Amino acid sequence: METIALIVAAGRGRRAGGGLPKQYRSLGGQPILTHAMRIFANHPRIDEQAVVIHPDDTELYEAASAPFRSHALPWIRGADERQGSVLNGLDALAPHKPRRVLIHDAARPFCSSDIIYRALNALDTHHGAYPALAVSDTLRRGDDLVDRANVFAAQTPQCFQFDAIREAHRAAQGIVATDDVEIALRHGLSVARIEGERMNFKLTTPDDIAYAERLLSKGVDVRTGQGFDVHKFGPNADGSTDHVMLCGVRVPHESGLVGHSDADVGLHAITDALYGALGSGDIGTHFPPSDPQWRGTASHVFLRHAAELVRRKGGRVTHIDVTLVCERPKIGPHAASMRDSIAGIVEIESERISVKATTSEGLGFTGRREGIAALASATVVL
Ligand code: MG
Repeated sequence: METIALIVAAGRGRRAGGGLPKQYRSLGGQPILTHAMRIFANHPRIDEQAVVIHPDDTELYEAASAPFRSHALPWIRGADERQGSVLNGLDALAPHKPRRVLIHDAARPFCSSDIIYRALNALDTHHGAYPALAVSDTLRRGDDLVDRANVFAAQTPQCFQFDAIREAHRAAQGIVATDDVEIALRHGLSVARIEGERMNFKLTTPDDIAYAERLLSKGVDVRTGQGFDVHKFGPNADGSTDHVMLCGVRVPHESGLVGHSDADVGLHAITDALYGALGSGDIGTHFPPSDPQWRGTASHVFLRHAAELVRRKGGRVTHIDVTLVCERPKIGPHAASMRDSIAGIVEIESERISVKATTSEGLGFTGRREGIAALASATVVL
């Protein structure tokens, strides 16, 4: 085998909060370790990965590694100190006879594909390579200024010729080193320093986790919701039988639609799609039909409420698609005004709204002209 990534995840560090070792804390809805494993599972130059864990964490590990079960070797038992954990990992990988190994901290979930390429390329001419950043902040030791020239912050993955680093680790038993580069240098190996990346920072404190969450959420949170509704033909709530309300438009028809409100099946489906995108119940939750105050209500009240809820969560509605299913009335002539009506209620541009119609080919309750069904989907960006 050519190249294996060894992720060190045996630490007990609880400084990040959440009552868990930090590598299992949730970040963007997934354990931090899961993010780290994804980097290597997806990288074309990495053949396998293995994770060193604390034996108390097997359940946490099984959950975190579940998406990569076919892309990971069996977990390896960690030691009390990081250095011992790495040696255990190297020993466990030896039977696979890898040429190269990348040793990575589980708490760096944002390592880029480029760093891995740069490090592996440097191994063509060196025993090892590691990413590092020049330090730009002013450094002081106590009151004394520290000269920043030649001061670098070392990151991981630290990459090595496998046999060379394993030998160095074996020779370093009994010596305490901070990282694998130090162990390699003590053993006389040549180690290249490659350009690190600010994004490849290590998560240690709750502040780091909060910062990482902000970075992740800067990527957009796109939600899609769906809604479905049916109303049967009959008198409208006000007793009239000469029109139906569809998507906020009064459409002449030989019957009304039966309902507690104005029975606007289109607006109801859209409203539920928006509540669905927010994970915030449905029309019945917010406007219980048992409450007499909503009797005969114009349905734009419901849709306005759902759109307002999106805005209150700091989001916006980016798209609405609704399909009305009926034999009659004909929707086509009214579709454009329905779009404008929905746009006005939700307060977005008409181009972001689609109103479509279909029949059900004479089949089912819509085919028998007993009522109208509506399906809607809505996209919300939070
Ligand atoms: Mg309804």
